[in-house]
Amino acid sequence: LSTRASTILSAVDIPTNEEVPGVYDGTWGGTGDILESVCPTTGEVLARVQSASPQELQSALEKTREAYEIIRAVPAPKRGQIVRQIREALAAKRDELGALVSLEMGKIRSEGVGEVQEFIDIADSAVGLSRMMNGRLVASERPGHSILEVPNPLGVVAVLSAFNFPVAVYGWNLALSLAAGNATVWKPSPSTPLCSVAVTKIVAGVLEKNGLPGAVASLIIGGRSVGEAIVESEGVDMVSFTGSEHVGRQVGKVVQSRFGKVLLELGGNNAVIIMADADLHLAVPSTFFGAAGTAGQRCTTTRRLYVQRSIAPEVISRLQRLYASLKPGDPLDSATLLGPMHTRAAVGIYSSAVDKLRSEGAEILCGGAVYGQDALMGHLAGGNFVKPTIAIPKSVDVKADIWQKETFAPILSVGVFDDLEEAIALNNGVPQGLSSSLWTRDVRNVGKWIGPAGSDCGIVNVNVGTSGAEVGAAFGGNKTTGWGRECGGDAWKQYVRWSAATINFSDEAPLAQGVSFSS
Ligand code: NAD
Repeated sequence: LSTRASTILSAVDIPTNEEVPGVYDGTWGGTGDILESVCPTTGEVLARVQSASPQELQSALEKTREAYEIIRAVPAPKRGQIVRQIREALAAKRDELGALVSLEMGKIRSEGVGEVQEFIDIADSAVGLSRMMNGRLVASERPGHSILEVPNPLGVVAVLSAFNFPVAVYGWNLALSLAAGNATVWKPSPSTPLCSVAVTKIVAGVLEKNGLPGAVASLIIGGRSVGEAIVESEGVDMVSFTGSEHVGRQVGKVVQSRFGKVLLELGGNNAVIIMADADLHLAVPSTFFGAAGTAGQRCTTTRRLYVQRSIAPEVISRLQRLYASLKPGDPLDSATLLGPMHTRAAVGIYSSAVDKLRSEGAEILCGGAVYGQDALMGHLAGGNFVKPTIAIPKSVDVKADIWQKETFAPILSVGVFDDLEEAIALNNGVPQGLSSSLWTRDVRNVGKWIGPAGSDCGIVNVNVGTSGAEVGAAFGGNKTTGWGRECGGDAWKQYVRWSAATINFSDEAPLAQGVSFSS
C-alpha cells in the first residue's frame, strides 16, 4: 500500500495489513464475498473488505430490532446527548475522515471535509430537535375529551446510500433517526466501504461508552443482493434509499408491496437559467462549480444551462475560459479542483454520452475526451480522469433524449431561450425534479420562479447554483427524483410513527359527530 493511502487509513483506524470486517451489530464480522475498495485516483486497491453472508445479514437485522427496543425506551433528550457525543467524536476526526472520503470516493479534499462537516451540522440540529420533537394537543368536539398527536419511534430504519456522498447521507439519516428513537441499519455503496467502516467505528465507540448496544447503529456491507434482502425484510420499518432512479424504482415498489415506509432520494437533471440581467461575475463561476465540481458526480450537479439569447455568447466564452483552467490532479492536493470519476465504469458512461452527443450533431465546445497518459503524471496514471465537457445540442427541444437523462458525469449541455416562461418550461420539461437555479436581479422573475407557475423542483434557488445545500432546509426532489425529503425542515417527522390518541376524562362516553347508538 502506498504511504499516501496507508497514512490516511491508519488515521481513521482502518487496518492496512489484513482484511477489513464489514459487518457490525455490536461485534465486527463478515464472512460473505470480499469487496475491494479501489482508489479512483490511482487504481490502487486500498483494502479488501469482508461483506455480510446471508446468515450474518439476518442476525444483524435481529440484533438491530433488539437494540431498537432498548433505544426507544431512552428519553429523547437523552438520545440527543448520544447524538451530541457522536458529533464531538466526528468533529475530533473531521479532517482525517474528510481525507478518507477524498481518497476512497475521489472528490477533492475540501469537499470530503465538507461532507463530514455536514454530518456534524445535522447532528447539531438533531441534538436541538431531541428536545423539540413535539406532538400536539388537538381540541376535541366532545366535552371532557382531549386528542393527542404523539410521535413515537418507528422501529428499524435501513439507510441504503450511494457512492458519491459516502458519509453525509448516512449522517442525515442517523442523526434524525437516532434522536427519534430508532435503530439503524446502514448498507453503504459497495465501492465506498472504508468510509462506512470508519464512521461506524466512531459511532460504535460512543454507543458502547454509554452502555448501549452497538446494533443501535448497525453496518451491513454488501452489494445488490444484500440491498435486496434488506429492502424485502419485514423487520425493516422504513427504507431510506439514496441512489439511482433505476434502482430506486425497484426499491420503492418492493417496500410499497409490503406496506413499509420508503423515502427515496434519486437522480437529478438540474438546470441553471441565466437571465440577461444577471450578475455574470457571480453566475458564471457558480455554474462552473455546479457543472464541473465533484467531476459532475453530485445529485445536484448542473447538467443543463439555459442562457437568455442576448448574453449567450458572453456567458459561453467566460465558461470556456474557466473550463480551460481545469487540470486533473490528486484530489488530496489542496490545489486540485478536478478529481477523478469514481470508477472505470463511470468513465465508460461519460464516453458513451459524449459519443451520443456527437452522433446527434451536438457541438462539443470543450472536453469531450478521457485524459490520456500524457496528461496524468506519476501516481495519477491509473486514475479515472475525464475532461469536463460543454456541449451545445443541435436542438433545445427538451423532449429529445439528450436532455431527458441524468448522465452522472461532468457534461454540461447548453441551450438558448428568449423569455422566462420558455426557460421555466425547459427547466420543468424533464422527468426529474431535484435542483434548479435562476440568476436574475429582477424581483418579478423571482416571484414567478418560486411560485405556482415556476420551477417544479424540490430545490428552487435564486442567485445560488444547483449544487450543494445547507442542512437547515429539507433536501430532496420531486417527480422521478422520488419526492423524498431528508435532513432539515420537517424531515424528522418521517422517522416517527404518529399516534392519534383520543382520551376521555369525563363520566360520559359520547360518540363523535353526535352519533347516537342507544335504543
Ligand atoms: P445506485 O442506485 O447504483 O446504488 C445506490 C445503493 O443501492 C447502493 O448502496 C447499492 O449497493 C444499492 N443497490 C443496488 N441495487 C440494489 C437493489 N436491487 N436493491 C437494493 N439496493 C440496491 O447509485 P450510485 O451509483 O451509488 O449513486 C449515484 C446515483 O445516486 C445518482 O443517480 C445520483 O443522482 C443519486 N443520488 C441522489 C441523491 C439525492 O439526494 N437525491 C444523493 C446522492 C446520489
